[in-house]
Amino acid sequence: MSMDGVAWSSLYKITRASGGPRSFSKDTIKRVFGFALPHRRKLIVFVVLSIVMAVLAVATPLLAGQVVDAIIAGVEASVVIRLAVLIAVVAAAEAGIGLLTRWLSSTIGEGVIVDLRTRVFDHVQKMPIAFFTRTRTGALVSRLNNDVIGAQAAFAGTLSGVVSNSVALLLTLVVMLEKSWLVTVLAMVLLPIFLIPARRMGSRLADLRREAAEHNAAMGTQMTERFSAPGATLVKLFGRPDEESREFAVRAGRVRDIGVRTAMLQFTFVTALTLVSALALALVYGLGGWLALGGQLAAGDVVVLALLLTRLYAPLTALSNARVEIMSALVSFERVFEILDLKPLIQQKPDAVEVLPGPVAVEFDDVRFAYPSADKVSLASLEDVSTLDTRGGEEVLHGISFRVEPGQTVALVGSSGAGKSTIAQLLARLYDVDSGAVRLGGTLPGTGVDVRDVTFDSMRATLGMVTQDGHLFHESIASNLRLARPEATEEDMWDVLRQARLEYMIRSLPDGLDTVVGERGYRLSGGERQRLTIARLLIAQPRVVILDEATAALDSTNEAAVQAALGAALEGRTAVVIAHRLSTIRAADMILVVEEGRIVERGTHTELLSADGRYAELYHTQFAEAHAVAEEAVPEP
Ligand code: ADP
Repeated sequence: MSMDGVAWSSLYKITRASGGPRSFSKDTIKRVFGFALPHRRKLIVFVVLSIVMAVLAVATPLLAGQVVDAIIAGVEASVVIRLAVLIAVVAAAEAGIGLLTRWLSSTIGEGVIVDLRTRVFDHVQKMPIAFFTRTRTGALVSRLNNDVIGAQAAFAGTLSGVVSNSVALLLTLVVMLEKSWLVTVLAMVLLPIFLIPARRMGSRLADLRREAAEHNAAMGTQMTERFSAPGATLVKLFGRPDEESREFAVRAGRVRDIGVRTAMLQFTFVTALTLVSALALALVYGLGGWLALGGQLAAGDVVVLALLLTRLYAPLTALSNARVEIMSALVSFERVFEILDLKPLIQQKPDAVEVLPGPVAVEFDDVRFAYPSADKVSLASLEDVSTLDTRGGEEVLHGISFRVEPGQTVALVGSSGAGKSTIAQLLARLYDVDSGAVRLGGTLPGTGVDVRDVTFDSMRATLGMVTQDGHLFHESIASNLRLARPEATEEDMWDVLRQARLEYMIRSLPDGLDTVVGERGYRLSGGERQRLTIARLLIAQPRVVILDEATAALDSTNEAAVQAALGAALEGRTAVVIAHRLSTIRAADMILVVEEGRIVERGTHTELLSADGRYAELYHTQFAEAHAVAEEAVPEP
């Protein structure tokens, strides 16, 4: 029967945009064939075997007809037995080849899925940070899963269906017409009665499936968002759990209703199909029998016609649905291609170079920057909005220039939203500047290498960054550290953990370095988490460090430990620090006061205090309190 899972489950994916089948560019189809190309040998074997299968399917009814004729003719028993054995052999061959074609179509399908998946994964990894800040993870992951699988279904299901069903249909019709054109034509007259409602029902089912998929996706998003630790906390603190439950229940109820309706529609369809083919069968027996009585048709031929007829309707329905199936598979492919076609904004130049060995200076040369607008970095369909916000990004840095000599520390201070993190992200080349340049190395201003000309590997080796949130993967401490340096030995790890003042704590854990941390792992305190991210930075031995000091106040023991870890991180390295601690600011070789995307003051702590400008103001409002804590925790020399 044609109503296998693949066929129906892919129905719902008919294009969302137009709400019905639409045409696809030749390009899409060409690209799809591009994915099939590596499997072409298997594909050819598959097509040949499908033809063999179709021939075998027609052979059995023909043999059965011969048995009947032989019985009527009163031949020797051995003839009948030989025919029966032949029928058995055909059945066995059909089973064997059936298995083989199944194996082929699924290996081809799975092969395509592997190619598509790895390519998409690889591509998404290369997307700029801007893409991830805009994209809903759920939508992205669903695209990676569902659509890739939808595309696979095309190869595994539709392809095999179309090939084998067309051949089967053609052969069956030829044989039937040859046996009795009159009976065949009359039996076929019943067909439209069945096919027309079948098509209509197909599109009705597609609508229902689509609606169910949308509800399921919405429930999925609701669950992933609400059932993460931060989401659940938010609901507990601010949410309205009753309303959330009600909304969820309404959706779940709708999915149930759709499930029942779909099942009923399908059942009605199957019943109608059975009825129509039974009617056609009655016609074959009636008309065929009458012709046979009149001597115009052999009795065996009546049997052949009846048996073939039962094999006619299934391929017909399958083929009438094939168009929809192919369309939905193409939609899946297009949705995947859409992601593959997003150009990564940050790319490595083909002639990219490495940062020269030795101490590295950092230089911003009249840097202007606006965050890229949404349409450059994302897809509307991944953001859960129908059209992207196309407003051009507003410039947030207006001509930033400064230079950090090798081994020196620059502290960035300023109000929230001034542009400090943006400066840090540009230095790490998470974004590219719009004008001006960010350079690394060079003994004189302007002689360093532009970060846009540096290889990704060299950037990663040269720069290290500790962000405020200090994200850790839900993996062991060791693998979190190895992220920064895969070849690190245990000794290396203990060494950096010692510098980060974590050695003692981690040695006391039962699993030591194998303790799983991160989202749902061992609960590190804020200070410990910060120190672990500092250890991760240290193990990479970067020559330039970018630190975004956490704003959260820590107790004095933790504060002192973090302070010591930071000291280790900064020592002998060129550093740009978004500073929140007075001690860091005081120790800096230069302080840059950033306001509204500009550097408004620069100098040392003492110079700036005596200038009595913006820094002095910040010092008195922002750092005065922290001052007390810091002084208590780490006495200044
Ligand atoms: P600071 O680190 O000094 O608090 P930021 O560098 O984070 O300031 O922000 C500078 C400006 O850039 C702010 O106006 C902020 O709203 C904007 N901004 C920050 N991140 C983004 C982003 N991902 N997309 C668009 N605008 C952003």
